[in-house]
Amino acid sequence: MNLKGIAASPGLVIGTAYLVDDESMSVPKRKVPKEELPLEIARFEEALIKTRSEIIEIKNKIIEELGHEHGEIFDAHLLVLEDRALIEEVISSLKKDLYSAEYAFSQVLERYISAFIKIDDEYLRERLSDIQDVGRRILHNLLGGHQALLKDLKNEVVLVAYDLSPSDTASMPRDKILAFVTDIGGRTSHTAIMARSLEIPAVVGIETATKDVKNGDIIIVDGSDGLIYVNPNKATMQKFKRSQKERTVLARELAKIKDLPAETIDKHKIQLSANIEFPEEIPSIQAHGADGIGLYRTEYFYMNRVGLPTEDEHFEAYKKVAVQMKSEMVIIRTMDLGGDKFISQLEIPREMNPFLGWRAIRFCLARPDIFKIQLRAILRASVFGNLKLMYPMISGVEEVKEANKILKSCKKELEKENVKFNKNLKAGVMIEIPSAALTADILADEVDFFSIGTNDLIQYSMAVDRSNEKIAYLYNPAHPAVLRLIQNVINIGHKKGIWVGMCGEMAADPAMALLLVGMGLDEFSVSPISVPTVKKMIRSVSFKEAQNIAKQALKLPSGDKIKVFLNNKAKEICPELLLSGNK
Ligand code: PEP
Ligand code: MG
Repeated sequence: MNLKGIAASPGLVIGTAYLVDDESMSVPKRKVPKEELPLEIARFEEALIKTRSEIIEIKNKIIEELGHEHGEIFDAHLLVLEDRALIEEVISSLKKDLYSAEYAFSQVLERYISAFIKIDDEYLRERLSDIQDVGRRILHNLLGGHQALLKDLKNEVVLVAYDLSPSDTASMPRDKILAFVTDIGGRTSHTAIMARSLEIPAVVGIETATKDVKNGDIIIVDGSDGLIYVNPNKATMQKFKRSQKERTVLARELAKIKDLPAETIDKHKIQLSANIEFPEEIPSIQAHGADGIGLYRTEYFYMNRVGLPTEDEHFEAYKKVAVQMKSEMVIIRTMDLGGDKFISQLEIPREMNPFLGWRAIRFCLARPDIFKIQLRAILRASVFGNLKLMYPMISGVEEVKEANKILKSCKKELEKENVKFNKNLKAGVMIEIPSAALTADILADEVDFFSIGTNDLIQYSMAVDRSNEKIAYLYNPAHPAVLRLIQNVINIGHKKGIWVGMCGEMAADPAMALLLVGMGLDEFSVSPISVPTVKKMIRSVSFKEAQNIAKQALKLPSGDKIKVFLNNKAKEICPELLLSGNK
């Protein structure tokens, strides 16, 4: 059986399917080292706090909709959460046995439940369902999605799930997950982006994967073409082996240009940098021949941990990246949480439209106390390498001015404290909201560079949720509206004397790269694994020819026509890149 989804992260692998879904979420028996005991206690306490605020939220909603007496049912749930005996028992078991918080809690919970079942008192027996309900919630919060389950994998598997959060993907044991497939999601969802940075092949948005694939099935995942083959027959197996060979040959060819510059045949130089989420990706940048880091997504630093990172923790991470990248450019993007990247520590209330909500720079400007911690750390690290900083989700000039004002106040503080920093640290903005693209001339006076974030720019110009597989057909980077916005930003940047880059996924598609070179883009920033193919395309065309292609493309009336035109051009110019599976 073949199933078609969305190509989320390239690569071709075969393995045994391992299904995870919420019902099968069992609690693994896991010991923790003694030094992690405080962390486990803190995790348990955080889960209690989170569960409490969830229950209060439900209670308020019920009171609003159905009246007070219905809401009072939840008071019994809140009482369970305040049951000191239960809490103490979990904490003392944590201290005594050094099990993970979820395992210790599940054991205590089980004991409570069996004790209640035996009680011959109707009132007390009624409390059983409250305990079970609250217990399930606490466990869910402790397990944090699928993470604990994944930690315990013994063999290499192909993970099959309804959905995975970006933090699930970020904490995957890389040596055990051969690939993953999900029912929902889109190519520029952060789960997909994370898979590319971890170089885990992935297909998302299959819709029926968790229904059609059984535990233990043999499954081929083609993350480049967005296909999976369940229990493949002999002919499919042969095709798989042929395709794997072809890809190895291509990878060998691409490795030969690794250290050559990203320049066109007539020597028009492009800066080809990489996007990273973790400092650990630096060897991969170097292995793939990128010219620096065009986007360091720092929000992952806030995930999968208890509490917020301190200024020193930020500083150490940025210093490490700056030092390792030596004189090469590193653009640190300030925290861009919100949308599909969610953490509980910030206590951002649940929103109806998180992608349009209180996120990224909007949150940072409202909470300068949290924002300044990161800005001070970037400034302190700036003396160790070639750092720049960039603000995400800018919608207009007021936000840039406000952010720069906070940056200035951090500089003043550091000066007073006699702490060194680069006084000329360059600050740029991401252009990922149409209002920013259309007012690029105003923004240009306040910043040193632009980096176009097409993942969001397309989402907001086309009104299409980037992580929704059902409307993925509308998510077209070649749409004339998107291209006009991009061209406007590039032209204005050049007129105002500032460089214009792109760090959205559009830049990683070799056919689109052809167009973007012709449109005059100065810098491309793509995931490390995409660097070789983009470099190959840039090195195969002359600037003049690319300009010609862009001119013709921009005259076409629809995204689909532009896409076909560009794919044909790319095939003519660089046929070897267009082997199936190299998208
Ligand atoms: C973008 O929006 O294009 C971008 C690069 O940022 P992110 O994918 O992290 O939203
Ligand atoms: Mg973005």
